[in-house]
Amino acid sequence: MEWKVVGLCPQCGGEVTFEAGTHLFHCSFCRTNLHMITNGPLCYMIPPWKGLDGPEEHIVHIPYWRFKGMRYRVVGRNKIEAGALDTTAVACTGLPVEASLGIRPQVGVLRLIPDSRYMLPHNRPAREAIEHISARLQLLDNHSAHGIERFIGETKCLIYAPFKMARVKGPPSGKGVWRLAPLWDRDNENVWRSLSAQAVARIKRGLMQVMAPGYRFFPLICPECGFDLPALSGAIVYPCQGCSRVWQVNGDGLTQIEYRLYNPPSGITDPVFLPFWRLSMTLGGMPVKNRGQLSRFVISYRTIPRKWDNQPVTLFVPAFKLNPRLFLKVAKWMSLANIVEDSAAGLDEPMGLHAVSLPLEEAAQAIKIVLAELFKGNNPRLLGMIKECRLKVDNAFLTFLPFKKQVMELVDAFSGHAIPKAALL
Ligand SMILES: [Zn+2]
Ligand SMILES: [Zn+2]
Repeated sequence: MEWKVVGLCPQCGGEVTFEAGTHLFHCSFCRTNLHMITNGPLCYMIPPWKGLDGPEEHIVHIPYWRFKGMRYRVVGRNKIEAGALDTTAVACTGLPVEASLGIRPQVGVLRLIPDSRYMLPHNRPAREAIEHISARLQLLDNHSAHGIERFIGETKCLIYAPFKMARVKGPPSGKGVWRLAPLWDRDNENVWRSLSAQAVARIKRGLMQVMAPGYRFFPLICPECGFDLPALSGAIVYPCQGCSRVWQVNGDGLTQIEYRLYNPPSGITDPVFLPFWRLSMTLGGMPVKNRGQLSRFVISYRTIPRKWDNQPVTLFVPAFKLNPRLFLKVAKWMSLANIVEDSAAGLDEPMGLHAVSLPLEEAAQAIKIVLAELFKGNNPRLLGMIKECRLKVDNAFLTFLPFKKQVMELVDAFSGHAIPKAALL
């Protein structure tokens, strides 16, 4: 289930609804596509579902990380578990609150955060929260074996949930005791937890700081030729269909980035180009030293281009979203495909380039899982070595590979494998 956000269009003031975690802001009133950025992660608030009951009550918003993406686990010699992940974890330590928000439809629509003194800044890094989620999930998993586990994140944002904080006077000292209860959860609205003196101090200190997410917007228009850039939800790199330049969000604007584009073999007209991160690496501690060797370990029956023996180990990881299972398969196909790398084309004419929605850092997170997918079922010895392997990515760049358009699918021009059109998210 998607979390929806309501915000106001900075150009016309119209009310716009969009998905949490996406930078795309499409206003149907003034028909503009804007890219939204903040100084830190994107953050939203859940409005309290009702007001306060008494004068001694206050509202405090406590941050939760929301992660959405893919989760992979290598279990045993032949199995990779792949699943979609959409979860939350508290982004503040030392407070007696729920570990996660859960999926609660009654939470309703989120809001963009106004500059506010009622938001507690987060003090728990995303990485640490992810480790916590991992531990939580492993309790649910049947497998206790510690294989390789990876989260490939597509979305990472903060959601601020409202709590009410109230002071009650009572025995034995007669002094006030602070307590906290969720205001985003109607079912547990009266479940109060007592706050320690430390937690109260932490909240009060936190609330002294004014949270100012500082949203900034810029129009999605090619800085070179003025063409509208593709308004794809979740995109981070935008190719221009007008001039084939590719733009990356950088600070408050768009910067052109280099890419390589491979011409399709002859006979394919009007191809679609899908983006891939071409990653070259060193696998310390593994007997796989070059691209040729890697391919021979996996597809010993096929002729490998001779020059692959002089190239570093290379993988092509999708730079666009797919379902978790297909993502791995496509990475495997393309990493083994006999892509004719001499065919890199220039910028001369407009091409059908697909937007990039998976950042390089996340693609790099997938490397060990893609290696496991390659060795799974045909080389258990190498599969077993991946976990301890000292991975070093030496070179990474964006490439666009040609696919042939068919009615229901896109067929890779080099390997002949097909991706259903409906799978392109
Ligand atoms: Zn507007
Ligand atoms: Zn352009």
